[in-house]
Amino acid sequence: MKDTIQGVERFDSPGKGRGLRVTKPFKVGELIFSCPAYSFVLSAKERGSYCEYCFNRKEGLARCGKCKKACYCNATCQRADWSMHKLECSSMVAYGPNWCPSETVRLVARILASMKTQKERNASEKLMLIGEMQTHVEDVDNARREVNESEIAGLHRFYSKHLDFPDHSALLALFSQVACNGFTVEDEELSHMGTAVYPDVALINHSCQPSVIVTFKGTTAEVRAVTPMKKMDEVMISYIDILYPTDDRNSRLRDSYYFTCDCQECKTQSKDKAKLKVRKRSDPYEPEVVSGMVRYARKKMGEFRAIKSEKTPSELLEMCVQSLDEMGTVFDDANVYMLHMMYQAMGVCLYLGDWDGAIHYGEKILKPYSVLYPAYSLNVSSMYLKLGRLYMGLEKRSRGLNALKKAMAIMEVAHGKDHQYMAELRKEIK
Ligand SMILES: [Zn+2]
Ligand SMILES: [Zn+2]
Ligand SMILES: [Zn+2]
Repeated sequence: MKDTIQGVERFDSPGKGRGLRVTKPFKVGELIFSCPAYSFVLSAKERGSYCEYCFNRKEGLARCGKCKKACYCNATCQRADWSMHKLECSSMVAYGPNWCPSETVRLVARILASMKTQKERNASEKLMLIGEMQTHVEDVDNARREVNESEIAGLHRFYSKHLDFPDHSALLALFSQVACNGFTVEDEELSHMGTAVYPDVALINHSCQPSVIVTFKGTTAEVRAVTPMKKMDEVMISYIDILYPTDDRNSRLRDSYYFTCDCQECKTQSKDKAKLKVRKRSDPYEPEVVSGMVRYARKKMGEFRAIKSEKTPSELLEMCVQSLDEMGTVFDDANVYMLHMMYQAMGVCLYLGDWDGAIHYGEKILKPYSVLYPAYSLNVSSMYLKLGRLYMGLEKRSRGLNALKKAMAIMEVAHGKDHQYMAELRKEIK
């Protein structure tokens, strides 16, 4: 980590290896540090909405004259992006609709290209940081290995014209580094904009009770305190969605990051009971009935994820409704598995332009969300935003204003008062 970042330092976190801690106190909402992306890529499906280079969101972006795909604010952004865009521009023209590298492959190609330039300039510092990132090559299971192999094939297929590749094992290491250390860049409603690598942010360890939140200003990551921090407190982010119960969180952490969490919440599991809330009944459910329904819920969530891209929206909605009916025989509406399926259903309704359907689910989600998530959570602020914007669109002004103001109160802390999103929100509220 660069010495120029004031207020934080690297240290050996007991039981976790490397970590980051603060060298002075930080208040809630205070910026701890910001970190430019080492490498980043805009999602192919977001082309046209954002500038490929600065991730600025605006109307009327100018298209690259050659590929007619990449879009930019102006000639300055286009020129600045060329060293990366040239990896794809002519290849997109040549392959046409058959050009289909995954977002991870696109990011790895950019990392390789940046490493090459960095080496030529002898600027080895960032390269070193990438090299230091955890790899976990030895922990990778067979399914992941297969994915990595097909990613490497994709890299060779679409990028060989512009890149010299390191040997196979170095590529495998790079793909697993990106899997563990890559960040999803999301907008204020948590929609996926792209993927990026932030070497300094990658030093931050995980806790299910995070002390900081990472948000994005363009392609730069910003780390802000969401709990008061004392001198020498470790900086902790959550690598996963902390909505789910302890067992689910830890199986997710083991699958994707190869460790088990020992934070206070994982030890006490104090929120699990509320997260697994069952319906009130005079004669309580047998434990086997509840655990059977938990198994059903996890299976349905997995199925939904697996077939999401193959089914039509109405088939997906049907699947949500069916599983909600089934789970609803045992689970309360505030149970996290119910919330998970309602969230999916809301997403499908938004996609279909069924605003009333989206509001129906959103309203049910919001209250339990604000109880189960911490005080400053992007999951909660984005839900307020979505609902607020839906209300405003349907001329339900007072409800809309109320929701947008609630979103704003969280975002002032998470994104900072001077973020572009805040200016946009202030305009919407007027
Ligand atoms: Zn731009
Ligand atoms: Zn182009
Ligand atoms: Zn934990």
